[in-house]
Amino acid sequence: MQHNWSKYLRWIITFLVGCTLIGLFFGYPVYGLTVGLLIYLVWTLAQAKRAYLWLNNPSANDEAPQSVGLWGDLFDALHRLHQNHLKVRDRLMARINRVQESTNAMHDGVIMTDSSGAMEWWNGSAERLLGFRQSTDQGQFIQNLIRSPMFKAYFDARDYREPLEINSPAKPHIRLQMQFSLFGENDRLIVAKDVTRLYQLEQMRRDFVGNVSHEMRTPLTVISGYLETLVDHASELPPKWRRAINTMSQQSSRMEALITDLILLSKIETGEQTLNDSITDVNNMLRQICHDAEALSGDQRHDFQVSIGERHWLKGDEGQLRSAFSNLIFNAVKYTPAGGTISVNWHTDRDGGHLSVRDTGIGIDPVHIPRLTERFYRADPSRHQETGGTGLGLAIVKHVLINHDSKLDIKSHIGEGSEFICHFPRERLAEKPAQQQVG
Ligand code: ADP
Repeated sequence: MQHNWSKYLRWIITFLVGCTLIGLFFGYPVYGLTVGLLIYLVWTLAQAKRAYLWLNNPSANDEAPQSVGLWGDLFDALHRLHQNHLKVRDRLMARINRVQESTNAMHDGVIMTDSSGAMEWWNGSAERLLGFRQSTDQGQFIQNLIRSPMFKAYFDARDYREPLEINSPAKPHIRLQMQFSLFGENDRLIVAKDVTRLYQLEQMRRDFVGNVSHEMRTPLTVISGYLETLVDHASELPPKWRRAINTMSQQSSRMEALITDLILLSKIETGEQTLNDSITDVNNMLRQICHDAEALSGDQRHDFQVSIGERHWLKGDEGQLRSAFSNLIFNAVKYTPAGGTISVNWHTDRDGGHLSVRDTGIGIDPVHIPRLTERFYRADPSRHQETGGTGLGLAIVKHVLINHDSKLDIKSHIGEGSEFICHFPRERLAEKPAQQQVG
């Protein structure tokens, strides 16, 4: 380059000296130099204009302009740069096309949005599953195309640890599971999976359990009724029948309790029991349940310590909340030896409302805690005959809390008692009505 640069300088100086000599030949060396400089200036301007026009629109002509000297070399360097740039662009385009082709071949819908939710790109399956159209939906906000309050709340919350399940807006018979990932500057990659078959199977299972329980209830009520009559007249029966009749009566009561819980659980799960968002007087409800729990405790004389914050009530389904709270408080009675302490505490803070049910009972090995809310899961299967539980109580609690956007927290150690805490979000709290506060 250094070598070329001195060559250009020499070339210009030779040209200008030549012009001066020609001027000198005619007796005007200064004019000769001036004309030489002017010629050089005009030529330089003409080359600069060609460079300017080509750089402004290089795609119109792939070849850079041709020239000599400094400008010739400059044009060659620009041409090489342009060619390299085209090669890199083609390589990138080929890669993007390949990624797009492979995502288009996917059965799952893939959608990319910017941080505000404007649709940037989606694959063919997203069109099929969600009904997006390339011609009209490019740049539209996804919240306007999937018009569901649940989708909007999930999109804005930015907590994408659990996937979202919704029905497709274009084809409501399709059930979609959507997994969101954040990338770049809060852009979103959304993968929508068709889980219709799984969803239908799950619904069939729930309906089946609900229907079977319903069908079993009537014959069982008849059997229990007759058994109760027999128990009432046990003194008239031969002694060898009395024990059998008593055991049959106890077992039929257990089965009735089981069927009642199964029906309740299937109603809570299927949403058949519509969530009545009325305002529930937690205070009164908890006092009634604790009163019943004391009756259940009977001779075992558990020490009940009840502390209930007065200020807030809960928005939710009173029946469901009552089932959940009773299950927790009655479990504390069932799994705490006589004389133990049971503390029930309802309080609210910045995060929401919290109901804690703590006991000094037998406790639970922490390995069982993650599975406790599964149906029929028992930490100590040998004890369930004694406690007479159905094994469905905590499953009911879990589903009631899910219906109320809330969570269950379990802390326990063998021999050290247990604590079950229901955490309700702030939005579920309601101020106690004024007239009640006065009263
Ligand atoms: P169950 O009808 O058997 O009580 P639940 O679903 O209510 O069924 O509870 C599931 C299991 O969790 C129980 O079998 C018991 O092992 C354990 N459990 C629940 N509550 C307590 C508690 N307060 N203390 C100790 N163990 C508990």
